[in-house]
Amino acid sequence: VIEEVARVDVSASLIPAVNKLGSMPIILSGSEDVKQKVLRPIAAGQAMISYGLSEREAGSDAGAMKTRARLDGDTWVLNGTKAWITNAGVSDWYTVMAVTDPDKGANGISAFAVHRDDPGFAVGPKERKMGIKGSPTCELYFTDCTIPADRIIGPPGTGFKTRCARWTSPGPPSVPRRWAWRRARSTPRSPTSRTARSSGRRSAPSRACSSCSPTWR
Ligand SMILES: Cc1cc2nc3c(=O)[nH]c(=O)nc-3n(C[C@H](O)[C@H](O)[C@H](O)COP(=O)(O)OP(=O)(O)OC[C@H]3O[C@@H](n4cnc5c(N)ncnc54)[C@H](O)[C@@H]3O)c2cc1C
Repeated sequence: VIEEVARVDVSASLIPAVNKLGSMPIILSGSEDVKQKVLRPIAAGQAMISYGLSEREAGSDAGAMKTRARLDGDTWVLNGTKAWITNAGVSDWYTVMAVTDPDKGANGISAFAVHRDDPGFAVGPKERKMGIKGSPTCELYFTDCTIPADRIIGPPGTGFKTRCARWTSPGPPSVPRRWAWRRARSTPRSPTSRTARSSGRRSAPSRACSSCSPTWR
């Protein structure tokens, strides 16, 4: 589905891609209660979910993230900033990675389901991007963001393992988009796209270029 949609509109393809990215940790490791609360409205088309892993100083090296979560009675309290989050502000739910035990490195990272209405949660302004502008990309701010203790996804410290397990089950969602770009570029142009070119506009597939492809995976 992602591949076919991306052939025509890469921004639109991010809707299924990112909902898959955000919901997969819950499908793999979430409690039954979190699954019911988060996945049911997404499956019904009533809500969307984003995925919050990256930070300004922790992109490829996600283990260097600084966002912290500490258990305070029956709540988790999150503090930090996530960067370049696709569909931020549009999504109702956010699967967020945060450090719960700084001494354990990657084994001290946990995943949480955060709702847009949780206290202390805020979304930054839209990034001004070179392409794929139909899909909003923003920062997420957690300022003593308080969520119920049972919104953790899997046991504490398993967030990174869940993230890696995600790749072995459905595959990285950016791969179908890249296939789609390649196919779109190698597909002979339709008469419609030739008309668009002759009138000075470029067809949608020819706009796709490697320099504006997102690096996230
Ligand atoms: C449009 C867009 C949407 C995004 N959406 C999301 C989202 O929804 N959720 C989310 O969590 N993140 C998202 N991201 C962030 C994305 O995951 C990161 O940009 C990506 O992980 C790369 O991190 P970085 O940009 O900090 O690059 P860096 O980590 O700084 O890497 C820069 C370059 O160096 C290379 N490199 C890095 N480390 C090494 C190394 N050790 N050895 C050799 N080469 C290395 C990389 O391959 C890359 O080519 C998005 C990014 C963009 C641009």
